[in-house]
Amino acid sequence: MNPYPWEDFRPHQQTPYIYGYTCDELTQQILTMGYREVHGPTLFGLLHRYGPNLPSWFDGQRLPRGLWHKITSSDKLDPIHRVEAHQSDDGSTKYRFHISGGSVEGIYMPFPGRHTLCISSQIGCAMGCTFCATGTMGLHRHLSAAEMVSQVLNIKQRHPDETGKTKRFNVVFMGMGEPLHNLDQVLKAVSVLTDPAGLNLSPRDVAVSTSGLIPKIEQMATVKKRPQLMVSIAATTDEARSAIMPVNRAYPLEDLMRCLERYPLRKGERVMLSYVLIENVNDTEEDARRLAAMSQRFPSLVNVIPMNEHEGSPGFVEPDESRTNAFANILLAHGVFTTIRRSRGRDVAGACGQLVQKIARKKNARTYV
Ligand code: SAH
Ligand code: SF4
Repeated sequence: MNPYPWEDFRPHQQTPYIYGYTCDELTQQILTMGYREVHGPTLFGLLHRYGPNLPSWFDGQRLPRGLWHKITSSDKLDPIHRVEAHQSDDGSTKYRFHISGGSVEGIYMPFPGRHTLCISSQIGCAMGCTFCATGTMGLHRHLSAAEMVSQVLNIKQRHPDETGKTKRFNVVFMGMGEPLHNLDQVLKAVSVLTDPAGLNLSPRDVAVSTSGLIPKIEQMATVKKRPQLMVSIAATTDEARSAIMPVNRAYPLEDLMRCLERYPLRKGERVMLSYVLIENVNDTEEDARRLAAMSQRFPSLVNVIPMNEHEGSPGFVEPDESRTNAFANILLAHGVFTTIRRSRGRDVAGACGQLVQKIARKKNARTYV
C-alpha cells in the first residue's frame, strides 16, 4: 500500500475557464481579441459582481459592442453545468455543483451581519480520514481555480439580502477535499477572489482548512496574500491520530505543532484548530487537557465539532451534549478560546461530502454524480 496516497494525485482540469482568470489575465485575453486594455477591469468587475447567470440587458453597456455578448455566451465562462439547492431548517443551504466528471458541494451559512460560504477544492479526497464521508470516496480529481471561484459566485448570487445588496461574506475551504493538496489552484482562486477589480475580498476573509500537510503549510507561509489557516487535529496522541487520520503517519503531531509555532501570523491572527469530537474515540478529559496544551503553543482558537454521524462510519458516534460541554469547559478552564460548532445543514446531510455520498449511494455506488 502506498503510505503517501496524496502524492499520487490526478491533475486538475486544464481547460482555462474565464472565471479562473485574474483581472490582468482577462485583460490580456481581450487584448488578443482586439479590444482595448481599459475594458478589462470593467468586464472583470461585471462578471464577478453579477455572477455566472448574467442578465442579458447589460449587452453593450459600458463595453464595446459584442465584447459582453462574446464573453457571456462563451462555453468557457463557467465550468459549473448545473446547481442543485437543498434548504436546511437551520437557515443554511447546501448546494451540489455539477462539474465535468462529477459533482462537489458547497454550503451557505447565514450569521448576523455576514454570511459564510463553504466550498470544495477536490472531487473526493486522498487523505482517507476514517470519520469523514469524503474520505471514503478517494480522490477523483483536483478542482481548477475557476471551479472554486464559480462556487463562490453561484452561492453569493442566490443570497442577496433584503436591500438587494449582498452582505459581507467570508469563504472557507471546508467542503470536499484537502485544499493544501491542490494548493496552486486554491491560491489562484484566492487571488481571483481578492482581486480589487472584482469581489475584492481581504485574504483574511478566506480560510483554508487542512488535515496537516506540513510542506504545504510551509509553502503557504511564504505567500503574501495567504488565506487564514485552519488545521484539523481530531486526536491528541500520535497513536490515536494515525488511526483516524492516515496523514499523521507522514506528518506526526509534534512536527505539526512545531510547524504551527513557526507559522507567520499577522496582527491579531490565530490558527484555528478544528477538533471533531467522537464518543469514546477522542473525548476524554486527558484529550481535552492535551488539546489545551497544544493550542497554547501558538496563538490559536479551538473549534469543537461534534461528530456528524453518517452511514460510511458506523462506529463513530456524536457524544451527548453534556459530554461535549464538559470537554469544551476543560479547554475554557485552561484559557483556550473555544467554540462548539454543530455542523450546519445536518438535516440535508451534514458536513463534508455527505450529500454527495448519499445521492451516489442511491443511484450507483460507483459513480459520484
Ligand atoms: N480536508 C480539510 C477540509 C475539509 S474537511 C480538513 O480536513 O481540514 C472540513 C472539516 O470537517 C475538518 O475539520 C474535518 O475534521 C471535519 N469533518 C469531517 N468529517 C466530519 C464529520 N463526519 N463530522 C464532523 N466533522 C467532520
Ligand atoms: Fe479529506 Fe478533510 Fe475529509 Fe480528511 S477530513 S478525508 S482531509 S476532506
